[in-house]
Amino acid sequence: MHKHHSALGLATAPFNSARGIALAERPVDPVTLIRPHAASRAARYFVEKFPGTSMYAVKANPSPALLRVLWASGITHYDVASIAEVRLVAQTLPGATLCFMHPVKAEEAIAAAYHEHGVRVFSLDSLEELDKIMRATGNAADLTLCVRLRVSSEHSKLSLASKFGAAPGETRQLLFAARQAADALGICFHVGSQAMTPEAYAQAMERVRAAIVDAAVTVDVVDVGGGFPSSYPGMEPPPLDRYFETIHRAFESLPISYSAELWAEPGRALCAEYSSLIVRVEKRRGSELYINDGAYGALFDAAHIGWRFPVALLREPDSGARDMEFSFYGPTCDDMDHMAGPFLLPADVQAGDYVEIGMLGAYGAAMRTAFNGFGSGKTMVVDDEPMTSLYLDDAIEPVPSNVVTL
Ligand SMILES: *Cc1c(COP(=O)(O)O)cnc(C)c1O
Repeated sequence: MHKHHSALGLATAPFNSARGIALAERPVDPVTLIRPHAASRAARYFVEKFPGTSMYAVKANPSPALLRVLWASGITHYDVASIAEVRLVAQTLPGATLCFMHPVKAEEAIAAAYHEHGVRVFSLDSLEELDKIMRATGNAADLTLCVRLRVSSEHSKLSLASKFGAAPGETRQLLFAARQAADALGICFHVGSQAMTPEAYAQAMERVRAAIVDAAVTVDVVDVGGGFPSSYPGMEPPPLDRYFETIHRAFESLPISYSAELWAEPGRALCAEYSSLIVRVEKRRGSELYINDGAYGALFDAAHIGWRFPVALLREPDSGARDMEFSFYGPTCDDMDHMAGPFLLPADVQAGDYVEIGMLGAYGAAMRTAFNGFGSGKTMVVDDEPMTSLYLDDAIEPVPSNVVTL
């Protein structure tokens, strides 16, 4: 019964599911599960249904295996925010188009991105950054410059409203200056992560309209940024095509040229379903479970911003007990390694049980540290379905797994 598994899977039945791996292997360390078919289905959905170009926001999960799945599924553009991300994507996907969408960059990073990696798209939210970009590129004449507007995050679970973005009083001068310097001029924004209603984009597009009218410039690109939601307990969003319809309608009514392009930068929505985690319960104290991954592992958001992830007990036979609410402690000696949840699990959970924590593909796997000697553990490919999905009802086929080299 016992088989050997390489770092990146190629596991065969009955091991190719969360349950199969937990029960057959009884892993001592946490196991990261990856589901290429789920990421592929999300990518196909955006490629087929978003009425413009979808570029993947790499920071949500920079795993090279994931990048290759997205590329094979039709995602050709990548939103990178650091020179390390530029190098990573350039090396992993040599044909990809890279867009450097961090509004505050090191001048050296801009220069390296432009001269060594062919990056031509940059975002900015100040005149200082515009000067920096022009100096670093030797006043290049082939730039697409995207001015980032500050917009409200009121409809999103994670605000991005305070750090970046030009305020209404600053946009006219900035758009004007960027128009002079750019080959193509774009306007971008970010409504905040996990936007729970399409209205967030409708409101932001009104800010775009006001900025264009006020500055009276020709705009070639409107980039609606990220923020497309995924599904978590207590945070079930409306269907994504409602977001696409709202964005499309708003885009069509903007005072921009007929040939203007619409872009988006989904991060979470493309990769949340890609990954989950098998953890072991090491101790139970009432309604508190001490598990072997936590705030310094893949559960940063569960600890620090109280994010709730779906959980399931992996036990055979299934527990007949009713669900109750649990909180989790992670494995490190730090009190902050605590995840309040609540996480709903059968009332008879005990030490030695395995639990799958779902929807960790975005800002989960990417945040892992080695603090306190934890953080190792293997990664395995599975082909069972993610614990929830926004894409199952839509007859979108993932690319066949044999066309992707993980
Ligand atoms: C983080 C980020 C994204 C991705 O956001 P999601 O909420 O994960 O979709 C897109 N664009 C920019 C500029 C970002 O900083």
